[in-house]
Amino acid sequence: MNACPQCKRIIEEGKVCPVCNIELSDKFSGTFVLMDPNNSEIGKILGKETVGKYALKVR
Ligand SMILES: [Zn+2]
Repeated sequence: MNACPQCKRIIEEGKVCPVCNIELSDKFSGTFVLMDPNNSEIGKILGKETVGKYALKVR
């Protein structure tokens, strides 16, 4: 499992983020699942509008 350093999306398979088209990192910490972006405080804080799984920090 890897995470994108830019959008912080967690990608289960592959080495490139399909959104940003950049290489993923396996050095990430803290994960959360964004189910309902419009009613999610963490979604608002992080500026996420897409449902998915994200990392809090990616190195
Ligand atoms: Zn990305």
